[in-house]
Amino acid sequence: MDLKKIEKILKDEPKYRLTQAMDFIFKNFGDDWEASNLSKDIKEKLSREASLKIDAEIFWADDNKSAKAIIILCDGKKIETVLMRHKDRNTICVSSQVGCPMACAFCATGKMGFERNLSAEEILEQALFFARLLKEDGERVNNIVFMGMGEPMLNFEEVMKAAKLFNEKMEIGARKISISTCGIIPGIKKLADEKRQYNLALSLHAPSDRLRGELMPINKKYRIADILDAVSDYISKTGRKVLIEYILFKGINDSKDQAKELARLLKSKLKGPFVVNLILYNKTESEFLPSEKSEVDSFKEELEENGVEATERYRFGRGIDGACGQLRKK
Ligand code: SF4
Repeated sequence: MDLKKIEKILKDEPKYRLTQAMDFIFKNFGDDWEASNLSKDIKEKLSREASLKIDAEIFWADDNKSAKAIIILCDGKKIETVLMRHKDRNTICVSSQVGCPMACAFCATGKMGFERNLSAEEILEQALFFARLLKEDGERVNNIVFMGMGEPMLNFEEVMKAAKLFNEKMEIGARKISISTCGIIPGIKKLADEKRQYNLALSLHAPSDRLRGELMPINKKYRIADILDAVSDYISKTGRKVLIEYILFKGINDSKDQAKELARLLKSKLKGPFVVNLILYNKTESEFLPSEKSEVDSFKEELEENGVEATERYRFGRGIDGACGQLRKK
C-alpha cells in the first residue's frame, strides 16, 4: 500500500474524495477499491496503481487464540506478524525489519541475519491485515507491540512513522502501542525525546552482563548498567511504566538466586515504575529449552518477595511456531 500514491492520484479531486478513500482503508478496512463508494474511474485508477491487496498466508494456533501471518512484500521478502486474542482485546505483534542483525542466541530470526528495514507502510499493513480479518467478527485491533522480527530501534524513523499511523489513522491509543528493544541506548534516548505516550519494553533476559553477553551479543556494546540508566531517564522524561521482558530458559536464567539478583539489580538501577514480564520460551531449533511451569512460578514468587512486580505472559502460538522467525524459516 502506498498512501502517498493514493494522495497523488486524488490530488485534483475534491477534498472529500481523499477522506472517502482514507475512511475506506482505515474505517471500513476495505481491501478492494471496487467495494468503495468512490466514482468508477477513480476506483479503476486506484485499483490499477495503488492496490490495497496484502499478499499473506495465515496459520491459526490449535487453541484459536492466536494466528500468525506470513506476509509477502513487494520484493518477495517474507515477514511474520502475530495476532493474539485476549478476552477483552486484540494485540498485533509487528515486525520492523526483514531478519535481524542482533543475532540473539535463542532467536530464530536472529539466525537468519539481516535483510532490510521495513517501511512505515509495510509495518502498518501488518496490522491492517488482521484488522480486516477481525472486522468480520465485529472486533478491532486494540494494541500494537513492536516485538516481531527485527530490532525496532535500528529502524527508528519508520517505526515512529508507523506508530503515528497506528495512532492517528487506526485510532489505537499511544498508550496501547509498545516498542521493544534489546537495549539500543541511542534508540531509548530518542524515544524519550519523542515525548509521546508509547510504552517502552526492554528485553533483558539475564541479571548479569556475563550471562546476557552469552545470550545477546549486543550486550558487549551496551552494558546492563548503562541500558538501565537510559531506561531510568526514559521513565523520568515520560512518566511511563517500563516493561522488563525476561524469557525463562531452563537451567540458564531461571533459578531463585537469579530472580533475587534480578530484583536487586532492577531496584537499585531503575528510578521509576517498572514491571517484569516473564515469558515462556517457544522452543526453536536452538539448544535452549523452556522452563517448567513450577520454575516460572517460583521465579515470579521470588521477584515478588523481593519487592518487584511481575507478570507472566500467556504462551501464545502453540502449533504455529510461536517464536518469531520460526515459520518464515520453514
Ligand atoms: S530476539 Fe529480537 S533483537 Fe534478538 S535477534 Fe531476535 S528479533 Fe533480533
